[in-house]
Amino acid sequence: MTDIAARCIREQPRFKGIFQNKGTFERRVRLASPTMHSDEKTFINQAFDEGFTGRNTARLEKEAAEYIGVKHAVALHSGTAAMHMAVKLAAERLYGSAAVSAPGSLGTVGALQGKRVFCSDFASSTMADSIVSEGGEPVFVDASDEDWSMDPEVLEIAFQRYPDVKLVMMNHAYGFPGQIMKIREICRDHGALLIEDASESLGAKVHGKQTGSFGDYGILSFGSDKIITGSVGGMLLTDDDYSSKKARSRASHSRAAAPWRQHEEPGDDCLMSDIVAGLILGQFRHLDEHIAKKRMIYERYLEKLGGDIMYMNPVGEGTEPNYWMSCITCESNILFQETRSEREYTYTNQHGTASPMEIYDALEAFNVESCPVYKPMSLQPVFRNYDQITLDGSKREYPEFDQDGFWVRCDVAKDNFDRGLCLPSDIKMTGEEQDRVVEIVRSCFD
Ligand SMILES: *Cc1c(COP(=O)(O)O)cnc(C)c1O
Repeated sequence: MTDIAARCIREQPRFKGIFQNKGTFERRVRLASPTMHSDEKTFINQAFDEGFTGRNTARLEKEAAEYIGVKHAVALHSGTAAMHMAVKLAAERLYGSAAVSAPGSLGTVGALQGKRVFCSDFASSTMADSIVSEGGEPVFVDASDEDWSMDPEVLEIAFQRYPDVKLVMMNHAYGFPGQIMKIREICRDHGALLIEDASESLGAKVHGKQTGSFGDYGILSFGSDKIITGSVGGMLLTDDDYSSKKARSRASHSRAAAPWRQHEEPGDDCLMSDIVAGLILGQFRHLDEHIAKKRMIYERYLEKLGGDIMYMNPVGEGTEPNYWMSCITCESNILFQETRSEREYTYTNQHGTASPMEIYDALEAFNVESCPVYKPMSLQPVFRNYDQITLDGSKREYPEFDQDGFWVRCDVAKDNFDRGLCLPSDIKMTGEEQDRVVEIVRSCFD
């Protein structure tokens, strides 16, 4: 946004009086940023002095496995690396190794070649990317409006249409857990493996049990905007002994037991460094404190914004979120006017309503970072040709839904995208700063 555009917004009468003298936030209010303490340095210095022996990494893996309640945790470069690893391991368990290459072909084919995989539609691109990069075909499963994660009812419909599917991948959107117990049960009924993406939900619980512990494979991320961070970092969680050994071996070049460098399978290089592990060890000691602060932010928004003109992320039954990201959805009954193309947007200011991008612009004008919620994978140009299942069934069965303006196909993920916005949820934001943010948001409706 240009300075002039920002000033034009700030000078609108509806925003008068929010800042008496300074006019805007001097320090940018962030969506989510790293919050460091001093324990991190202790662990990092240790690794420095000892010469990267892997002690921090081993300790972090042990602590994380105990905390989550799984047998094995393998610390890797990133959440994305862990996701790719999980998909490879699951695919090989289901379909056998593809890495040795297809008959008659010199190159390798993906471990999921030609296979369909059910994947949350309302999610980041990581899951879909990891399916496609193994040659698989994602089928997107719509979100539940009760928790924004995969809808178990829609998953059942997906299995009716594609009964041969053997792999399901779901996430806990923005740290608010989905109906993982039901999803796990459905997977078992159909003999499918489950990958549970807990990248955003570290510390969140379902019926008292940590997210990341329900799937055959769990994924954690310690990326720089996550609830605790190593600036980068990720983790693969599993109870399966073979998978954990295999992951560890593959993550360090798949060296076979021989005096020389012997390679009998393709390898990778994605083990977590001891420095990063030290950072995360220090952060781990503050996880509960970070969750408590995130929760206070969510509750303050809920009290001041939730209910009449907008709603907050829903909290599913029996779940304890980690409140990583507070999001709002604008009330659609008071219809706002906003249009989006692939890369751009327009809206009209109307009295009594506000659109997500209108709020986004207003916040930006005051130096506040916000972000539209996930654009569903089924709407992304790169994944558009894959099937998507909602409560109304398969997209391929009802192509006319796309054209017919009168009858709108149920599509929770798209509806969220049309109406939703992530609000600043940085734990360094003060209560006073948050109240100002709330004032700006509320003023958008004038
Ligand atoms: C952050 C995130 C990832 C990716 O993790 P990285 O560690 O950044 O690779 C994957 N999935 C979700 C849902 C995330 O939020």
